[in-house]
Amino acid sequence: MKVWVDRTLCENHGQCAIAAPSTFEMDDEGILQYTEGFPADELEYIEDAMDVCPVQAIFLKGDQ
Ligand code: SF4
Repeated sequence: MKVWVDRTLCENHGQCAIAAPSTFEMDDEGILQYTEGFPADELEYIEDAMDVCPVQAIFLKGDQ
């Protein structure tokens, strides 16, 4: 399973980087950067990030 952010929706508010800092971070220019792959124990934090994202821009894709 991988995480994917729809950048046409993302407004770089950064809540995801607070909820799941191992996966999401804001760069020096305030733009979201993230890694698609993640270990199994990261999933709960990514789900938290999905919940707090104000524009619901975070998705999971791939094998369940
Ligand atoms: S919380 Fe949502 S809108 Fe904010 S940076 Fe993350 S993906 Fe983008």
